[in-house]
Amino acid sequence: MPLTNQRVDVPVIVDESKCLEKCVACIEVCPLDVLAKDPETGKAYMKYDECWFCLPCEKECPTDAITVKIPFLLR
Ligand code: SF4
Ligand code: SF4
Repeated sequence: MPLTNQRVDVPVIVDESKCLEKCVACIEVCPLDVLAKDPETGKAYMKYDECWFCLPCEKECPTDAITVKIPFLLR
């Protein structure tokens, strides 16, 4: 899977101001294992640019920090 270069240009955007440092809910629930914690900030981010748009990450986040940008063609 391709590593992401830019965190703003991936399908899953994490609002770092809302992400809880101790939480790993989105990472555990993702079937593709594409989400990870930034070891420096403790915030979640999309590590690999691959997504099934299945949405459990967005639903399970306790603080609504995740936005999944569903591509127009899949809507
Ligand atoms: S939408 Fe699904 S595949 Fe994409 S990051 Fe969230 S849980 Fe993972
Ligand atoms: S589920 Fe939400 S609060 Fe928890 S790690 Fe993911 S983005 Fe952060």
